[in-house]
Amino acid sequence: MEEKKRTFAFLKPGKKNKQSAIIAELQFAGFTVVREETRVLDIAMLREHYAHHVDKPFFQPMADYLMSGESVLLILSCKDDLDPVQFLRDLIGPTDPKKGQFGQIRYDYGAHHPDIIFMNAIHASGTSAEAEEEIARFFPN
Ligand code: ATP
Ligand code: MG
Repeated sequence: MEEKKRTFAFLKPGKKNKQSAIIAELQFAGFTVVREETRVLDIAMLREHYAHHVDKPFFQPMADYLMSGESVLLILSCKDDLDPVQFLRDLIGPTDPKKGQFGQIRYDYGAHHPDIIFMNAIHASGTSAEAEEEIARFFPN
């Protein structure tokens, strides 16, 4: 099957102008917003999405934070010669914001605190297959 040239992301809850600034940065870097929806995520969706983390001690605090406000769900594409999944992962930086570098979205917009790694501003799919699975989950229609 031909690989789809798109990826999935969501901006985690926080100030609206911070979410807008991140979208502007994504566009400035070369992404096109194909679809955008603002929504409060629910526990059923989070248990599915974070199935690999449901038994971890940080799952409940992470879910409480993610349900505390609106997330902005995004389908993103970019120029044909780039892999959107890898391009976005490089742009956001590592899971733990403080381990990234200035200019990476998680470093610039995430929390630099040892106990709140999950306040890392943005989720982005790790592979193209994961992106398609997540798009089907978060945008069923
Ligand atoms: P994401 O899937 O959100 O883009 P990732 O692929 O870099 O992040 P995963 O291992 O898939 O990392 O973790 C998913 C999310 O779980 C992370 O974004 C973070 O919010 C949270 N997380 C992962 N590990 C920890 C941890 N040790 N402590 C707190 N939160 C964590
Ligand atoms: Mg992941």
